[in-house]
Amino acid sequence: YSAKRRQCGSMTYEASLDAGSQESLSLLTELRRAVENNELRLFLQPKVDLKSGAVISAEALVRWEHPQRGLVPPMEFIPFAEQTGFIRQLTAWVLAESAHALKLAQGHGFDLRISVNLSTRDLLDQDLPTKIDQLLAGYSVTPQGLCLEITESAIMDDPQRALQTLERLSEMGFKLSIDDFGTGYSSLAYLKRLPVNELKIDKSFVMAMERDLDDARIVRSTIELAHNLGLTVVAEGVETGKAWKLLAELGCDEGQGYFISRPMPTPRFFEWLQGWQAPDLSGETLDTAFA
Ligand code: C2E
Ligand code: MG
Ligand code: MG
Ligand code: MG
Repeated sequence: YSAKRRQCGSMTYEASLDAGSQESLSLLTELRRAVENNELRLFLQPKVDLKSGAVISAEALVRWEHPQRGLVPPMEFIPFAEQTGFIRQLTAWVLAESAHALKLAQGHGFDLRISVNLSTRDLLDQDLPTKIDQLLAGYSVTPQGLCLEITESAIMDDPQRALQTLERLSEMGFKLSIDDFGTGYSSLAYLKRLPVNELKIDKSFVMAMERDLDDARIVRSTIELAHNLGLTVVAEGVETGKAWKLLAELGCDEGQGYFISRPMPTPRFFEWLQGWQAPDLSGETLDTAFA
């Protein structure tokens, strides 16, 4: 592999994977072993309706419980998995675990959807829709229970092919979401044509909007744009009660962030869900400049 610079969310990840590189070879071996030895963990983070506070879905976020290094965050191995093609196996694992979690949720009487992140490599795989279909059938879960999150950059890598895959996934009944909106180089001409249902405003804007008027304006315009295109809009990075209140005021539909909860292992997520109560935000005052 040649050295390659890739945009991953707001971070620039630089990987130099030389063909014989000892380090990258051993990381790939370790990742393969991680799947075999059950070292991957599925974490779930709730997404709530900002008006009622009800939990309507959860995002599946993978972690690697490394025997020596402890809990490894996804940004330390997802870009690598993407470059080596290992991401397809990883995505299959996440989808299977998510289908299983969805079954468990239904068993607990919870009516929610689970969102799974897809990467560029997944989206360019022509057989992806068929593979997902077969995988879900094994869990007797229908596509309606799942949402697939795709970043703008993944779509713009090969828009024609991405559009074809997304159209098939949409016809099959999956909900589709554009992740990290505002950080990629998406074209509005494509956005209009994509069969997506949801747009997620990147957390960088949401986390800055309380102190930076420009970020607040970007958030407000994105909510308006999404609604004008008939999309549900979700804010990532809701870290304060004030942010929740401001977003609700601006008409944002859903929120996800540390103020609500950090991502949790599946069993913990169900416990949390049982005890969840929408917070009282009446004490939060909003700066008139923002609202
Ligand atoms: P993402 O899909 O945009 O996921 C949201 C990220 O924001 C998660 O980071 C989440 O923990 C974090 N987050 C949520 N609320 C807050 C908040 O209030 N404040 C802050 N500071 N952060 C918040 P995480 O779990 O580290 O994942 C990072 C990225 O790794 C994800 O971004 C996604 O692009 C990728 N990723 C994670 N799991 C998977 C996976 O199973 N497959 C693929 N392809 N990518 C994944
Ligand atoms: Mg996501
Ligand atoms: Mg995101
Ligand atoms: Mg993000």
